[in-house]
Amino acid sequence: MVWPKTTARDAAGQLVIGGVPVPRLAAEYGTPLYIYDEATIRAQCAAYREALVRHYPGRSRVVYAGKAYVSVGLLRLLNEEELWLDVVSGGELQFALAAGFPPARIVFHGNNKSEDELRLALAAGIGAVVVDNHYELDLLERVTAEAQRELDVLVRVNPGVDAHTHAYRRTGQVDSKFGFLIDNGDAQRAVGRILAMPALKLRGYHAHIGSQVFELEPFVQAVERLFAFGREMAARFGVVPEEISPGGGLAIPYVSEDPQPDIDALVRVVAEKVRRAADAAGFPLPRLGLEPGRSIVGPAGVAVYRVGAIKEIPGIRRYVSVDGGMADNIRPALYGARYEAALANRDGPADAVVTIAGKYCESGDILVYDARLPEPRPGDLVAIPAAGAYCLPMASNYNLAMRPAVVLVREGQARLIQRRERIEDLLRREVELER
Ligand SMILES: *Cc1c(COP(=O)(O)O)cnc(C)c1O
Repeated sequence: MVWPKTTARDAAGQLVIGGVPVPRLAAEYGTPLYIYDEATIRAQCAAYREALVRHYPGRSRVVYAGKAYVSVGLLRLLNEEELWLDVVSGGELQFALAAGFPPARIVFHGNNKSEDELRLALAAGIGAVVVDNHYELDLLERVTAEAQRELDVLVRVNPGVDAHTHAYRRTGQVDSKFGFLIDNGDAQRAVGRILAMPALKLRGYHAHIGSQVFELEPFVQAVERLFAFGREMAARFGVVPEEISPGGGLAIPYVSEDPQPDIDALVRVVAEKVRRAADAAGFPLPRLGLEPGRSIVGPAGVAVYRVGAIKEIPGIRRYVSVDGGMADNIRPALYGARYEAALANRDGPADAVVTIAGKYCESGDILVYDARLPEPRPGDLVAIPAAGAYCLPMASNYNLAMRPAVVLVREGQARLIQRRERIEDLLRREVELER
């Protein structure tokens, strides 16, 4: 199912999400508009939490990867759902702190954290830093000494696992900018260095193999590598991991033909592997950390656009241009992501095949090639599902586009959680205007 779980059509054929007709939202908040269905977000959170309860007897945590989409409204909701948060920049960290997200439940990732970012993380009292490289250890040594504080760390290893996903979304193969390589001794040296720094408390090992991963086997392999590494470290240094985290990356369906990855199945196979591997290693059951981003918010989001110009190139293609595009969703242009679409203001047989084009000045600014829709007309509303992850966070002001408004819908109520960007927001940075 590529649409949010509350999606329906009313008697007039209008698309309804969270009990609210989409045309009403478009009229009130304008387009492009991003709609998030609260019930779907909460259901995805519950699916992870409940699967862990079902399949894993040890401690566990679900850490939401904020880079998939953050807003204050979403963070408050995820806090209620008792998720943890992973941030990858000082910006995301400050945003989370401003939203009142508990710092102790924040984990900091990234392959080039700056000294200032680490200082900020330490001062905020965040839960843990996932260390990526030796340079970062140099910085951590300095900032913890300066602040006279201790810090929990996990070591991110590169497990050498191929996640079978797009090259830009693969992170766990040997040739990657992320994590300490095990094979060349880097990861082992990192553990040795951390153990020699009294301010750093080594909590365990982390790997993240990539994103939009459909197969479960690579996650199992990642856990296997983490434990193999854990056993080596136990033999060499006498340290036992308190936490094992195979990261995030579970895929979501974008088009109806995509398989429907099963959160429960992922958690079951990973939990089983962790239990067996801990048993074989003679380790107490570690805390199991999971880090979903896309699979929490992706299925909950729908992008809504208004149709403008329609251009027929006889025998070749019909371009239906909408009032958004790559400035709010660069995924099709960046990695050939596929989507499907529907009309939101009326229903009917999907007997037209059209290309939904963005309005920005790049030929690659196409949202959907060969979408099947009822014959579109100017003024119609086009809705694109599975737009909840990695669209808005990658949104730009290309062509000085204003970033879209975001509404959260639930049981017939809509709540604006991010207003549309205004020209004043952009002009505010122009220092020359003040002179
Ligand atoms: C991106 C990322 C995630 C989340 O990946 P999804 O595919 O959105 O689930 C988790 N952990 C780390 C370290 C990441 O970089």
